[in-house]
Amino acid sequence: MEMKKYFIGIDIGGMSVKGVAVDKDGKILCEGTAPTGDKDGGNSLAENVCELIQRLISDSGHAATEFAGVGVGCPGVIDSKNGVVVFAGNLSLKNFPLVERVQKSVKLPVKITNDANAAALGEAKFGAGKRYDNAVLITLGTGVGGGVIIDGKLFEGYKSAGTELGHIVIQEGGNPCTCGRKGCFETYASATALINSTARAMRENKDSAMWNTYTPETVTGKTAFEYMDCDKTAKKVVEEYVRYLASGLTSIANIFRPQIIMLGGGVCNQGERLIAPVREMVKREIFGGTDYADIEIVKATLGNLAGSLGAASLIM
Ligand SMILES: [Zn+2]
Repeated sequence: MEMKKYFIGIDIGGMSVKGVAVDKDGKILCEGTAPTGDKDGGNSLAENVCELIQRLISDSGHAATEFAGVGVGCPGVIDSKNGVVVFAGNLSLKNFPLVERVQKSVKLPVKITNDANAAALGEAKFGAGKRYDNAVLITLGTGVGGGVIIDGKLFEGYKSAGTELGHIVIQEGGNPCTCGRKGCFETYASATALINSTARAMRENKDSAMWNTYTPETVTGKTAFEYMDCDKTAKKVVEEYVRYLASGLTSIANIFRPQIIMLGGGVCNQGERLIAPVREMVKREIFGGTDYADIEIVKATLGNLAGSLGAASLIM
């Protein structure tokens, strides 16, 4: 007799909370969203999360007793063992016992991990990495986030404070990073970094065709790609971005030697225009070559569902 065959996944973002109810294969029964609420130390957030969970259960058409539990992905430093949000700056949370608060209200087991880890789990279990036990997800957004799956399990490091893959230094003494170091991977490979280098290249090259439609203030992560085939400044921006991205990915691959690296975030919508040259460079530079242990580098496939699906899998 198997009664508890459904799962809730909750993905907390800076502005809103996304939730899904799924079966064991990650098939979505229903979805929903809620605001993160007032920055009152966690009370509003916990209430909104509980309300969303109840709504998902009710929309799923199944009884609460058929649910095995709730998984939560949350930004910031998360003590997953004790279910505490140690620190989440964007949400104004400090030492907030989110798991205990939610568990008490919804009367289901609740587990939590960092949002990047949740996304990595989601992609590894249900997305681009589902055929592999050793996978890394790198998300190229405002910063660079990452999650590591080893032998089918999430690797979080001591007190789940690990795998901050955006903060490996790829250029000693390089660009200043929000973490306090200089030359971190994310200061070269994030969408923010790409936008900054595009704007800088325009300022330094007044003859660039990018000036036809953009100013340094209006460039996006797409601008350089849009012009790379007709403008040498844009082409140089893309080539440099590819080199930095490949450099960081090669170091990450040399440490974990995953079977697959999945790339997420808006920049990856460039598809093979971005990923093909990155793949080629990583395969060329990776330690020992790829004859013995090959590596795949692909676009992540779940988009903004990766986090909530991965969170749900925490309970499976
Ligand atoms: Zn850093």
